[in-house]
Amino acid sequence: MRKIFSLFSIFSFIFLLFTSAAEAQLNFYFINVGQGDATYIELPNGKNALIDGGPTNKVIAQFLTEKNIHEIDYVVLTHPHSDHYIGLKKVFKMAKVKHFYDSKAENISAKGDNTVRDQAAQQGTQIHFPKIGSKLPWDKSVDIKVLNTCEHYIESRNNSVLNNCSIVLKFTYNGTSVLMMGDAETQAENGMILRFPNELKAYALKVGHHGSDTASSAPFLEKVRPAVAILSFGANNKYGHPDYYALMRLQAVNAKLYATQDGTQTLFLPAPSKTIPAAQPSVQVYNPEAQQPLLFDIATTPQPVKVNIPMMTEEQKAVKNKKSGRLLKSLDNLKNTGNERAASVDQPMLF
Ligand SMILES: [Zn+2]
Repeated sequence: MRKIFSLFSIFSFIFLLFTSAAEAQLNFYFINVGQGDATYIELPNGKNALIDGGPTNKVIAQFLTEKNIHEIDYVVLTHPHSDHYIGLKKVFKMAKVKHFYDSKAENISAKGDNTVRDQAAQQGTQIHFPKIGSKLPWDKSVDIKVLNTCEHYIESRNNSVLNNCSIVLKFTYNGTSVLMMGDAETQAENGMILRFPNELKAYALKVGHHGSDTASSAPFLEKVRPAVAILSFGANNKYGHPDYYALMRLQAVNAKLYATQDGTQTLFLPAPSKTIPAAQPSVQVYNPEAQQPLLFDIATTPQPVKVNIPMMTEEQKAVKNKKSGRLLKSLDNLKNTGNERAASVDQPMLF
């Protein structure tokens, strides 16, 4: 009897070991919410987070239901645009949210953002306005640094101003970083280059502003050098996201592109111990700085799909270039153009 009991204990121990191994990963789910953003995160300590809620109730509600989520430790609204906050209204109805992270940006042409803020207040959620350069204490094994936000009150109806208020977070776990850009555009990127010139390198980049041309400048991508770039946008959206040139700039730094329009994209960062297996088999091996090999799993449901870059005809390019007043004649000068723009047109936005 004692023998059977001790055998049972051993099995229980092994079971617990593997259960905690699964939890010891840092998991990102870039949810296919259509034209918008929502990223669900499972922290190694078992807590969870949601960055933005997408443009509708339906998708995020379905995601929470499927994953049986009734409580979220940390919810972030990167900035008050409807493609980021509408889903959060549903989230606050469906789940108990412990902490809510907000910028001090007020979108004066919208009311829904303040509905979310009211819901947070009514629920007794702790509300935070993080400061640039501060760290979020979500998990002691994960370094989470705030690289951008509007930490002082600003009201606007200008889309770019609000986009550049986006809370940008850099997650670093086990020597590997993921940069979550919200809708930050080039002005905010320039601010980050000035403030954090040596801290922008990241394995994965959740590309700013749905792959718009107003984000992902060449100088910024030179600093980030992402191996993997995740673009969140809806098929055939009216904004033309992602932009042809933005995709070219991402490809110029050899980023492998993934898109939420092809399905929810997942990125799992395994636990530090090599003896702890990743929850799912890796589909690619990455060796950061030629140190210890780490396994990553970035997969769609069911398989990763590369973004098809919309090819523009020469005629379309000419029209686009004329419209934006730029002098892009060939893909070869993309990098130079990015640098010129950074230096002459877009002044860094420092709050
Ligand atoms: Zn957006």
